[in-house]
Amino acid sequence: MTNPFLFTDEHEEFRLSVRGLAESRFSGTYLEKAKSDKYPSDELRQLGDAGITGLLVDVGDGGQGADALTLGIAVEEMSHANLTVGYLVFGSTVACHVVAQHASPEAKGKWLPGLLAGDSVSALALTEPESGSDAAAMRTTASRVDRGWILNGEKTSVTAVVHADVIIVFAKTDQSAGARGVTAFLVDANDPTVTSHPFDDPGNKPLGRGSVVFDGTFVPDDHMLGALGDGFRIVMHEFDLTRTLIGLILTGGAQKALDMTAEYVTQRHAFGQQISRFQGVSFPIAEHTTYVEALRMLSYRSLGLRVAGRPHSREAAMVKWWGPEVAFNAIKDCIVLHGHVAYSDELPLQSMLRDVSAYFIGDGTPQIQKLVIARDVLGRDAVGS
Ligand SMILES: Cc1cc2nc3c(=O)[nH]c(=O)nc-3n(C[C@H](O)[C@H](O)[C@H](O)COP(=O)(O)OP(=O)(O)OC[C@H]3O[C@@H](n4cnc5c(N)ncnc54)[C@H](O)[C@@H]3O)c2cc1C
Repeated sequence: MTNPFLFTDEHEEFRLSVRGLAESRFSGTYLEKAKSDKYPSDELRQLGDAGITGLLVDVGDGGQGADALTLGIAVEEMSHANLTVGYLVFGSTVACHVVAQHASPEAKGKWLPGLLAGDSVSALALTEPESGSDAAAMRTTASRVDRGWILNGEKTSVTAVVHADVIIVFAKTDQSAGARGVTAFLVDANDPTVTSHPFDDPGNKPLGRGSVVFDGTFVPDDHMLGALGDGFRIVMHEFDLTRTLIGLILTGGAQKALDMTAEYVTQRHAFGQQISRFQGVSFPIAEHTTYVEALRMLSYRSLGLRVAGRPHSREAAMVKWWGPEVAFNAIKDCIVLHGHVAYSDELPLQSMLRDVSAYFIGDGTPQIQKLVIARDVLGRDAVGS
């Protein structure tokens, strides 16, 4: 069985090559682009050209057939160079993986090549104005018609929806079946019955977040993802992956802030010496380095368990509630250790703080993660809902 806790030589070689790509292509542009709401189309295409978007897709479908640990390495290294590109790796690889795994041959043929090339942008629409954590309470419906389905409803808080070409949409196909009545569909975002509206967010501006309305949108049968009523199972299985990958976005971003700060405090002088000689400066760096390393290890352990085919919902939820705190606190202290220059957009730290704060909520709040862990530790009946 695959050892779930160690990298192979291949993984280490991949880390070096993806680090080279991340540093040479993306590391210098983060701050300038983070201020704009222009979608990073060029960066997405470069990820497509490098084969990153298709890491989890089988070779037969045009991908790399790599494992989740390899993807985790790509997410960490790209996020260290550029948090926006780190998200692109995360979002594009998961979308390609979901389409390759669950779409019909017709829908795959239509959408997968563009997604793999980085020419097409995807979004995943689950949250609604009246339901977020309680996603099964969604109101969007898909009603049966000849040769397909008609979608009606509104999704909100959807990353990249205003830039999307294709949207993975979850809708109720059976109102009486609870979570088992939810089905996933691939929807053409350029259909005239689909309208999206952008939000004005404090961080992750280039990605764009917004709401989207489906007003009698026809979706052909061959654009259903998985089987009827399978939508919730698909999303829950992907959550274990996405929540873990978010831990590695946060690891990469926090490590970058610590690396910048280590350089700064050894150069800056106060009271006649390098400020790194004050323990009030060096100890926070030591503490955050410890937390970030622990987050990194927990994230890779979760991915290792996935690769080995073992359950990892508990580990993924641990990463997801704790990771944002680790990264946010590390970047916040890095700002303090830089003094006044960090309270500006001259350095990327303020932008990084705003970007990582998105991950407290996106993909599930800390409370929901702790419910997942508590149910696993104590049993569902002992914890309740
Ligand atoms: C930056 C960002 C990006 C996002 N991207 C996407 C996306 O691409 N696609 C998408 O579909 N959604 C996306 N979301 C939405 C996100 O998944 C939801 O916001 C999240 O699941 C929480 O739902 P809610 O905001 O409706 O909060 P609610 O569910 O209304 O919760 C409000 C508060 O109540 C708490 N709460 C709720 N239920 C319980 C409970 N049982 N026990 C304890 N506490 C509870 C929550 O923890 C929270 O603190 C994104 C959100 C953000 C901020």
